[in-house]
Order: sequence, then structure tokens, then C-alpha cells
Amino acid sequence: MPDTRSRAEVFKGHRGQFETNRKRILASQEVCGICGRPVDKSLKYPHPMSATIDHIIPINQGGHPSDLANLQLAHFCCNRQKSDKLSGQRQFTKAPEVVSNRLLPQTFDWHTV
Ligand SMILES: [Zn+2]
Repeated sequence: MPDTRSRAEVFKGHRGQFETNRKRILASQEVCGICGRPVDKSLKYPHPMSATIDHIIPINQGGHPSDLANLQLAHFCCNRQKSDKLSGQRQFTKAPEVVSNRLLPQTFDWHTV
């Protein structure tokens, strides 16, 4: 999978800037950018209400991996829900491709219904 590898390599190059901006956001932002409620920074991962850094536009949708403008404070649970929703949408658009009429039972007797 050369696609995912190159994306990981790109992210690695942005790691230093991401760390700097992560600290900047933790020091300057108080509320979750997804639900708008306060974030308790004393809670630690993997607590669902712990503080995480969310990519406003996901990296796999062309968002910048480390730019301060694309990062925001978010609850761990909100961040996870957001990515679940995005992957769910991808699955939904893929679904019609795998549906086949050949999966219908050929020997079913429709007259008995
Ligand atoms: Zn939240």
C-alpha cells in the first residue's frame, strides 16, 4: 500500500510543528471545537472526556497535518465520533458496488407467498 505509507511519511515530517501547535492549543483553548463544551485538561487519555487535538479538515481529506489553522482542541470521544462518522460515510458510498443480484435465491418459489 504505497498510498498510506507516503501519507505517514508526510505526517512524520510535520511532527515537530504538530507538537509545537498541540502545546499552543492546550495552553490557549478551553472548549471542545466539536461540541463547544469545556475540556478538562487534567483528564488523561483514554478517558472519553480527555483533551485531544482534532484536525478540523481530516488529513485524508486534504487537511493540513500540522498547521495551527487546521487544529483545534477536542474531547477524545468527540474526535472519535467525528472520525467514525467520516468512515461511515465512506462505507455508505461504497456499498452499492458490492450489492449483486446474483446473491438473490434462484430457486425461490414466488407463488407460495
Ligand atoms: Zn466535545
